[in-house]
Amino acid sequence: MNFKNVTVAGSGVLGSQIAFQTAFQGFKVTVYDLNDEVLAKAKAKFSELSECYKSDVNATQEQLDNTFNNLSYCSNLAEAVKDADLLIEAVPENVDIKNEFYKQLSQVAPAKTVFATNSSTLLPSQFAEVTGRPEKFLALHFANRIWDKNVAEIMGHSGTDQAVFDEVIEFSKAIGMLAFPLYKEQSGHLLNTMTWPMVLSAAELWAKDVSDPIHMDKMWMKVMGAEFGPFAIMDIVGLNTTYNIAKAYADFNPSMNLVLEKLDAEMLNQDRLGIQNGEGFYQYPNPVWEAADFLK
Ligand code: NAD
Repeated sequence: MNFKNVTVAGSGVLGSQIAFQTAFQGFKVTVYDLNDEVLAKAKAKFSELSECYKSDVNATQEQLDNTFNNLSYCSNLAEAVKDADLLIEAVPENVDIKNEFYKQLSQVAPAKTVFATNSSTLLPSQFAEVTGRPEKFLALHFANRIWDKNVAEIMGHSGTDQAVFDEVIEFSKAIGMLAFPLYKEQSGHLLNTMTWPMVLSAAELWAKDVSDPIHMDKMWMKVMGAEFGPFAIMDIVGLNTTYNIAKAYADFNPSMNLVLEKLDAEMLNQDRLGIQNGEGFYQYPNPVWEAADFLK
């Protein structure tokens, strides 16, 4: 493994998890974000994450102390990347923001640094030119709750160097992930491409009043042996994000307009946003789908 120093750009939902997991596995991680105020929020997120690591992966205090020692913080991009072997970009899912970020990054990063984007829907080929180093650029995509859902999807564009691709696969394994290489570019990678048609089909049945969330989640969990069903997934992802994904599908599936109308009227306008604010299709904490007798 040639990578030692990793910089994570963007310390939001996923960036904070990627930084913490990477530091937990022994790498030196610099967390970069817009200003010191946002970085202070990242530190608070790391404290919350350390509680999850204690309860979910039995992390010891020594491991957590080492994790915090491996983390440093910086709001100056040139300074944040000066020693980076790998930079993982987790800035907002917005083409203009990512373009501007890579433009600035290309001017200050050392030649050795590999750039990886955690974008869920945008393709590496969209940014390859602006990175200034297309052969050292690819996607490295993680799932939310990285310490528990430890999967990494590695996806190059046509100009990505195979040796760089292989090195990033090795890196993802070194930070405790199961690695899933993609053989060609695919918006949504593997996981989201497989998941969303199922989730939105359930949403369509709900929007057409054919069935209700509890029955559909129960059926999915029972038959597929899954931990949760499509409506719980929407609550976990958040109903604003779900709305945006359904909107993208509406371009080629007009039934999605019914889903958009009902999501808007019954969820978003009622301030039911999912787990993040305690109410979505279910009430949180302790939603009924988590109860021991849900499948009885
Ligand atoms: P978020 O909004 O929670 O966090 C984005 C962070 O980027 C914020 O801390 C913000 O201050 C920072 N930021 C904004 N502009 C910046 C810039 N120019 N330079 C550095 N930092 C900047 O977003 P998120 O949900 O963590 O998503 C980030 C990326 O990860 C997106 O590309 C998204 O598609 C992807 N992703 C998200 C999830 C998820 O479940 N949230 C899952 C997988 C992948």
